[in-house]
Amino acid sequence: MRVQADDQKAQLDWLTRELRTHMRKLPKRHQLVAAARHAQALFEINAARLPCGHIACGAGCASCCNAHVGVEMAEAFVILEFLRETRKDDALADLLARTGDRAREVGGLDPAARWAARVPCGFLDRDSGNCTIYEARPLACRGYNSTERRACDEAAARGDSDAGIPADGERLGRSRLVRQALARATAAVLAAEPDDHVKLHSAVTAAANAGDALSWQRDRRKRKAR
Ligand code: SF4
Ligand code: SF4
Repeated sequence: MRVQADDQKAQLDWLTRELRTHMRKLPKRHQLVAAARHAQALFEINAARLPCGHIACGAGCASCCNAHVGVEMAEAFVILEFLRETRKDDALADLLARTGDRAREVGGLDPAARWAARVPCGFLDRDSGNCTIYEARPLACRGYNSTERRACDEAAARGDSDAGIPADGERLGRSRLVRQALARATAAVLAAEPDDHVKLHSAVTAAANAGDALSWQRDRRKRKAR
């Protein structure tokens, strides 16, 4: 599972092939979740090889969890599966209801207004500042980073934008590359364009309403065919 090619296009092609090969080994109903999990694992393996020590992110640090998070639908099903495995039925129902509320509350905001609204992600534990779906968090969250925590806190206090926060561009770039490969690898299954990703709360709500990835795929195909 190594990314050996040097240039970006070769890496993207390699990642896409790797994810497609991984998907093909599995029954259709497991393919989306497996591809997203594999993509996340590939990102973590590659991110671990990057020079470290200068990333400011850590547990309990969450000023950044007030922004739109774009995800692939495959990642939404990973989160849904994780929640089903780790939450009791009542807690899961409450959380999914809150996720739907959050999608309606912030889904229509543009990125600047979303940041300025300072409405925390529905999966953030506001007491501890920890991500409650950390193991299943999407690639966008895995790649997002800062090399200066004070810059994050100041941007949060200003409420204008996160544009001035210094970041490790390599980590960010790799997460975007893997996500692009995931989009390409799952495009045929989803009958969707590779860049057709959605916002986190809306995606998880849609996944929960569909029940499982296969039903979502079928509905999606029908809607596209109309
Ligand atoms: S991006 Fe900033 S606020 Fe978010 S975890 Fe990293 S240092 Fe903390
Ligand atoms: S999923 Fe987790 S890491 Fe991502 S924005 Fe929400 S709380 Fe933060």
